[in-house]
Amino acid sequence: MRYVEPHAHMVSRTTDDYIKLVQAGCEAVCEPAFWAGFDRSSAKGFFDYFSQLTKYEPARAAKFGLPHFCWICLNPKESEDIKLAEDVLEIMPDFLDSPNCLGVGEIGLNKNSKNELEILERHIDIAAQRDELILVHTPHLEDKLKGTKLIVDAILNQPSIRPERVIIDHVEEHTISIPRDKGFWVGMTLYPESKCTPQRAADMLEVHGTERIWMNSACDWGISNPLAVPEAAFELRRRGQTREMIDKVLYQNPRAFLSQSPKFKL
Ligand SMILES: [Zn+2]
Repeated sequence: MRYVEPHAHMVSRTTDDYIKLVQAGCEAVCEPAFWAGFDRSSAKGFFDYFSQLTKYEPARAAKFGLPHFCWICLNPKESEDIKLAEDVLEIMPDFLDSPNCLGVGEIGLNKNSKNELEILERHIDIAAQRDELILVHTPHLEDKLKGTKLIVDAILNQPSIRPERVIIDHVEEHTISIPRDKGFWVGMTLYPESKCTPQRAADMLEVHGTERIWMNSACDWGISNPLAVPEAAFELRRRGQTREMIDKVLYQNPRAFLSQSPKFKL
């Protein structure tokens, strides 16, 4: 089996996880910028983190023969301090130019606040000006439905961004159709405790089909499983899905979306 892990926070993972990914058939890993588990105190903290994503982590992944790509942004959770957010937005372009950076992400909303929405729109503007791909984080639990609608509207408000160059991640049963019906890609995140189980992801694929959709583990410093994607493939096999269908969802679809960036090569 071959697959692409399109969303994994490898800076939080051990070298054992790199070995497991490669042994399971992973051919590339993509790492969006995200919250560290604590609020960074200055733009310098982001500078170091962005350097890690664009220089040090790809070198670490290369030791295991795994191509590593990243996305750069300020996480929605850290948008409340507008001054800090503006300082970070200022240093972003240099990192977006990095050879392994695929675009702006994972941007989005956390609590759907006014400041979060303002910084989301600033990110969308940067992506529009630079013609970057966008990867979007949607909020958790009770904030997800409202947040997904707000995000979709904010992106559609920027006419130069084409929905097929945007992936809305962490969709669930009640939100999957909102972006997809408007031409966006969607991602299902497989988590042991929240978001989506392999069984629920398999159900959604049976209901909604395999167009413009991928699966990821979003493994990070919390309770998460870096092998969630190959484990979901096992669930699909168990249900009698074909090898072609599984290859499309796990490999061809992420490759098709990510290849819209000329920097993504397998
Ligand atoms: Zn993430």
